[in-house]
Amino acid sequence: MRYLTKTRFKLGIKCPTKLFYTGKKEYPDQRQENEFLAALAEGGFQVGELARQYYKGGTNIETLDHDEAVARTEELMAQDQIVIYEPAFRHNNLFIRLDILVKDGKDLRLIEVKSKSFDSMEDNPFLTKTGKISSGWESYLQDVAFQKYVLGKACPGYEISSFLMMADKNVSCPVDGLNQKFRIMKDSKGRKGVKVSNSLAEEDLRCKILIEVPVDEYVKLIHEGTFEFCGREMSFSSLVEFLSSHYEKDDKITPEIGAKCKGCEFKCDTADEAAGHQSGFKECWKEALGWNDGDFDEPSILDLWNFRKKDACIKAGKTKLNDLTREDIEIKAGKAPGLSASRRQWLQVEKAKNKDASPHFDAAGMKAEMKKWKFPLHHIDFETSRVAIPFLKGRKPYEGIIFQFSHHIVHKDGLVEHAGQYLNAVPGVFPNYECVRELKRQLENDNGTIFRYAAHENSYLLEVRRQLLEDRDPPADRDSLCEFILAVTESDGRKGERSMVDLWELVKKYYYDPATNGSNSIKDVLPAIMNSSSYLQEKYSQPIYGKAGEIKSLNYKDWTWVRGGEDGRILAPYTLLPHVFDKDTDESIERFSDDEKLKEGGAAMTAYCRMQFTEMSGYERDKLENALLKYCELDTFAMVMIYEAWREML
Ligand code: SF4
Repeated sequence: MRYLTKTRFKLGIKCPTKLFYTGKKEYPDQRQENEFLAALAEGGFQVGELARQYYKGGTNIETLDHDEAVARTEELMAQDQIVIYEPAFRHNNLFIRLDILVKDGKDLRLIEVKSKSFDSMEDNPFLTKTGKISSGWESYLQDVAFQKYVLGKACPGYEISSFLMMADKNVSCPVDGLNQKFRIMKDSKGRKGVKVSNSLAEEDLRCKILIEVPVDEYVKLIHEGTFEFCGREMSFSSLVEFLSSHYEKDDKITPEIGAKCKGCEFKCDTADEAAGHQSGFKECWKEALGWNDGDFDEPSILDLWNFRKKDACIKAGKTKLNDLTREDIEIKAGKAPGLSASRRQWLQVEKAKNKDASPHFDAAGMKAEMKKWKFPLHHIDFETSRVAIPFLKGRKPYEGIIFQFSHHIVHKDGLVEHAGQYLNAVPGVFPNYECVRELKRQLENDNGTIFRYAAHENSYLLEVRRQLLEDRDPPADRDSLCEFILAVTESDGRKGERSMVDLWELVKKYYYDPATNGSNSIKDVLPAIMNSSSYLQEKYSQPIYGKAGEIKSLNYKDWTWVRGGEDGRILAPYTLLPHVFDKDTDESIERFSDDEKLKEGGAAMTAYCRMQFTEMSGYERDKLENALLKYCELDTFAMVMIYEAWREML
C-alpha cells in the first residue's frame, strides 16, 4: 500500500511533484540522511520524551510495521481511558502516527510535539492581521490539520481536540541539569531513542517548560479554507484526495517550477550523477521548459542573489540570467556607499550575459573603508547552538549558546597569527559567560578593529547580555561583561565605540565574483577569491600555516591552503579539512554520514549536540573537539585571507 503519511502530505503541499520522487532510490533526497542530525540539533528527541513525561504511564506502540501498529492501536482504543504514544490510524491510503493521544471516553486529545520555541506572551501568534494563518506557522498547523482529518475519518463519532506542544520561551527551567537527564541512546533493536535518567524527579517536571497550545480554531480555518493548487481551487478534503490518489498510483503531478526549486531536495550533486542517480530537479526543469543538459550549465534565475521577483519572471519565461533586462531588476541607487542590492543584482546579470568571469572590486570604496580601521585587526567567529531543554535552573528553552570562538589577528606589518580560541562542549555546562569573558580578555589588550562575518556574532553577544541582565544569580563581573558587549556591538541605531565591522556587508557593497554564483557566504567567497588572487596563491601554496617562524596556528602544522583540483581550479579550503574520524583506526565509532567532515556551521552545531546528548568515549570526544577547533580556525582565517586579497588589490 502506498500511504500518504503526514510527512508525505507536508512534502506534497510544498510541491506535489515531489511525491513522485520521494522514497525512490534513483532520485537521491539530499535531506533524508540528515533527519537524525536535524532532530539532534533541534532537540527533537528530548522534547518528544519530555512531552511523554507530562503524560506519564502511556502505552508506546513501538512497531514500525503499519498493519501491526494499526492493529495494536485498535486494541488499545477499546479501553475507555488511555494514553497512547505513537498510535497509528489509517483511512483508505491515508496513514498517520500521532505523537501522543489521550482517550477519555468519546473525547480524543491529539497532541503534536514540536521541537520549536513558542512565545506564550505573544497575542495571536498564529494569525496575520488580516486573519490568515501566518506563514511561519502554516506548515505546523497544516500538519495537525492533516492528522485531525485522518483521525476523524478513522474514528468517527469521537470529539477530537488538537494541540501543539512546544517549548515555551518564557518559562524558566525549574532545576539544574535537566537537559542531561535526556540522553540519546540506541535501544535493543539498534534504533535511536532517548533514555530518561532514573534521577528524573517530580521536581524536574513541576514547572513545565513545554506548553500545550490548543489549535482547533486554526485547524478549522485550514479545513474550511480553499487551496490554489495545480491551477485549480480545492477544498482541504479535495487536496488530500488529490495528493493521496496520485501518490497511490505513483502518478507524477506535472511540475510547476518556481523560486521554490532553488532549495529542492531532489537535486543531485555531481557525485550522485556520476553514480548514475537521477536529479528530480533537472527532470522537472527539462519537462517544464524543454531544456537539455547543456542548459543547466548557464546561470539560471535561481542563482540571482536576493531577487524577490523570481516566480513572476519564471512565469514570464525568463529562466536564465541571460533573459533578464534592466526593467526586470528595477535598478535603484542606494544611499550608502557601494553597490545597492539592485545594482549588485544587475552586475551579476551583466557579467553572466557578457560571459565575464572577472571579479568586480570597488577599490576606491574599499580604500575609504580601510582608512577607518585600526591595527591590529581582529577577526572573530562564533560557533553556536540553541538547546531545547536548558542546562541550568532559571535558563529558558532555546536560549543562545556560544560554545566556541576563534580569533585571528593581522598586525600592521602584515603578520598574521591565530591569536586565540575557546571551546567548551562539556556536557551540561552553560558556556556563555566564560566564553565572553575569554573573548574580552583576548580583545581588550588594544583598540584594534574587530571583524565579524554577518550578523551572527553581534546578535549572540546581545543575547548573552540579556542573559546576564536577567540572571538572578549573575557572575561578579556581570557589569564589565555587559560593558564589553555594548562596546563591540550595535543594535537599534546604537553603535558601540568599538562596534564590530561586518566583512559580509563589505562583500555585498564592494566585491562580486561570478564564481560565487551569487552567494555571499564565506564558504563561496573564499574559494572564489583564492582563485582570482595571485597574492593568496603565491603565499599560501607554501606550507607556511602553522610553521615555526611563519604563521602561528593553534591547530594546524605546516599546512598548505592553496592546492589545485583536477579541474585546474584551487580547491575550496573547507574541502581540505580532514575527516573527523580515521577511516581505518576508528571503524567502531558510529558515523552519521559517509563523508563525515566538519565543514559548515550546521555540522559544528550538531557535533556540539552530539557531545552534549549522546554517550561517547573520551577518544571520540577529543576527535570531535579537534575537528571543531580546526573548522572554527579556518572560519577566521578565511576572513583574514579575504582581507589580504582585498588589501593587495588596492
Ligand atoms: S524541482 Fe521544483 S517542481 Fe520539481 S520537485 Fe523540486 S520543487 Fe518541485
